[in-house]
Amino acid sequence: MRLYKDPDVGDVVLRKNRRSRRITLRVSPAKGVTVTLPWFALYSQGVAAFKARKSWVLETIERQRERFKDEPQPSPEEIETMRAEAKKVLPVRLKELAEQYSFEYNQVRIKHNSSNWGSCSRKGNINLNLNLVRLPDDLRDYVLLHELCHLRHPDHGKGFHDLLESICPGHRQKEKELRKYRIF
Ligand SMILES: [Zn+2]
Repeated sequence: MRLYKDPDVGDVVLRKNRRSRRITLRVSPAKGVTVTLPWFALYSQGVAAFKARKSWVLETIERQRERFKDEPQPSPEEIETMRAEAKKVLPVRLKELAEQYSFEYNQVRIKHNSSNWGSCSRKGNINLNLNLVRLPDDLRDYVLLHELCHLRHPDHGKGFHDLLESICPGHRQKEKELRKYRIF
């Protein structure tokens, strides 16, 4: 993976993929701008492809911002309601899943940030975003199971995905669905 810094767009991630046959560009509100290259292509070709379509990238970013602008923002009171709900529901559900699949974590905390749904520290502490209470149950469980799997695999390697798939079948699809939801 390489990073190209564009003065207008910011970070552009260049990634090689053995299965891709041509250079593709993707703009995502959550993941930013990604250029996927076939293994035989040069990173410089990826940068050139990005530059050639830069105006499209900028338009797409702008359009995605517009779309989110119309989404109603929760008020501070609504956030507090979500927090109370999250504190009541999430630790209980995490404990259930941990017992079901024999995971042992240290502590669980409910957090409010806009960058991630959850995280797991090396010390085995799990942080869960209070926004999780807005998700359908199966996506919420996917995030919880994802973090539990990090207790055994801190990275996103094959071992991690195999374990997660064994307890959360179709987890890659759930990961995709999750991107449709915004964190407030
Ligand atoms: Zn992860």
